[in-house]
Amino acid sequence: MVQRLTLRRRLSYNTKSNRRRIVRTPGGRLVYQYVKKNKTVPKCGQCKEKLKGIQPSRPCERSRMSKRLKTVARTYGGVLCHGCLRERIVRAFLIEEQKIVKALKSQHESLAKPAKPVKVVEKKPTKGAAAKATGKSAAKKPAQKATGKSKK
Ligand SMILES: [Zn+2]
Repeated sequence: MVQRLTLRRRLSYNTKSNRRRIVRTPGGRLVYQYVKKNKTVPKCGQCKEKLKGIQPSRPCERSRMSKRLKTVARTYGGVLCHGCLRERIVRAFLIEEQKIVKALKSQHESLAKPAKPVKVVEKKPTKGAAAKATGKSAAKKPAQKATGKSKK
């Protein structure tokens, strides 16, 4: 005959949060042991892979855990995996580079078409004017333009 067990808490419904295990005590009795819900590891926001170096936990435990256990010392640590982060960084870098190349191309075309022989005379005043007018960003562009020309 199966031994009948008594619940140890008031909640009597078989709900998700009321799961139990039957355990034999040292005294030989059978007793319910309440089981907690499964702990989970956060997943990468992009590829949904489990993140490494992060302790599995329940949401209510996370507020009590130290930051060291919940994240990795990297930008987007604990949010994105290393592969997806690298991809994003490289992509952003290449897009920025593309912008610069486009800007240089348009500048180059606008300079080359109207006056080729006046180029040498034009160079100096534009540099000075740009530096006076808008400072760093404008000063950078002519320098890059010069390097591009020398390569070609
Ligand atoms: Zn990922």
